[in-house]
Amino acid sequence: MTAIDARHATTATQPFDVTRVREDFPILRQLVRGKPLVYLDSAATAQKPQAVIDTLVRYYTTENANVHRGVHYLSQQATDDYEGGRSKVRAFLNAKEDREIIFVRGTTEGINLVAATYGRKNLGPDDEIIMTAMEHHSNIVPWQILCQEQGAKLRVIPMNERGELLMEEYEKLLNPRTKMVSVVHQSNALGTLNPVAEIIRLAHQQGVPVLLDGAQAVPHMVIDVQSLDCDFLTFSGHKLFGPTGIGVLYGKAALLEAMPPYQGGGDMIRSVTFERTTYNDLPYKFEAGTPHIEGSIGLGAAIDYLTALGLEQTAAYEHELLAYGTGRLSEVPGLTIIGTAREKAGVLSFVLENVHPHDIGTILDTEGIAIRTGHHCCQPVMDRFGIPATARASLAFYNTREEIDALVAGLHKVVEVFG
Ligand SMILES: *Cc1c(COP(=O)(O)O)cnc(C)c1O
Repeated sequence: MTAIDARHATTATQPFDVTRVREDFPILRQLVRGKPLVYLDSAATAQKPQAVIDTLVRYYTTENANVHRGVHYLSQQATDDYEGGRSKVRAFLNAKEDREIIFVRGTTEGINLVAATYGRKNLGPDDEIIMTAMEHHSNIVPWQILCQEQGAKLRVIPMNERGELLMEEYEKLLNPRTKMVSVVHQSNALGTLNPVAEIIRLAHQQGVPVLLDGAQAVPHMVIDVQSLDCDFLTFSGHKLFGPTGIGVLYGKAALLEAMPPYQGGGDMIRSVTFERTTYNDLPYKFEAGTPHIEGSIGLGAAIDYLTALGLEQTAAYEHELLAYGTGRLSEVPGLTIIGTAREKAGVLSFVLENVHPHDIGTILDTEGIAIRTGHHCCQPVMDRFGIPATARASLAFYNTREEIDALVAGLHKVVEVFG
């Protein structure tokens, strides 16, 4: 067993007890519109276990102080715990060093940081950035802004009807002008798991760095940045059962060292005069201003919680639930699942004949069922499938088969109303 297997399989001998696990999530106990809440929107944001909530309350109740420059007790405690969060992220991703973990606001800011620093420094006219046809807007727009500034170009790996990348097209797109490959690991709109190890291997053959948008993958599978050999990876705390407003950019130290700073201000400097500023070491060079102290601490608590459950176990349970949900949804008349990749996780996107997804969501809401409807920040995916929107149920390990049954019952009502 490798170190990472051991870390993520601590309780793997016991069966996954979803009833007990649900007790850790106070929000799931409530009634919504008089019905038990059925929360099927974890791809938009995940619910928080009591351990995370308690950690935030404890921080503000007993420890709140600014970090890094304080000599007093509270400041030292807050600094230790803020940096402790960073170490937990490092271990969770199996990164080599704490200084490769940069705290940002979320996935979106992580990508913007790389585009604005690495991108501005290294991409010029006619250079190319390769992405996929299933990117979230957060992994399109920052690169588009860079292209407008630098005269670079976006190239897009197409996908088939199932929502799987055409890897032979990717190989054709790679060329000496390619300066960056930035791809989503798991699609939030389709659930597709992309073959990122192969994508990285092919890019590295040409000396091209790869950024992974890990917003969906990191909460739902074991990620090892060293064995993947990705150059950058970014994810959001709030989708990993942690607080909002905190996220992570992992980058290989050598790349981060060579990048110019992102924002200027406090903490990111070593010395400042009106003539000249020298920058701080990693990771602080990229963390200007007072950081999201309780965000790091809360994210650390979320990682502890998930690690104790065992990410291999939660992933296996979610996978089983996805298979069950896929089967049950196919019983609903007129329903088509959008995104049927063979390698897929956690997401059931669908359309219903003659019903706008918005109406599906509204009717399900009256049953206390929370799903998301719309383009899921992936308008190019909707265009690819020739639809304006989908309804999307997304899963986490606290969901149950009974909740899937409730979703299916709700959809039968939708069909009755519109049928
Ligand atoms: C949610 C999401 C993002 C954006 O994350 P933020 O937390 O809003 O910054 C980017 N990519 C994917 C695949 C996502 O699911």
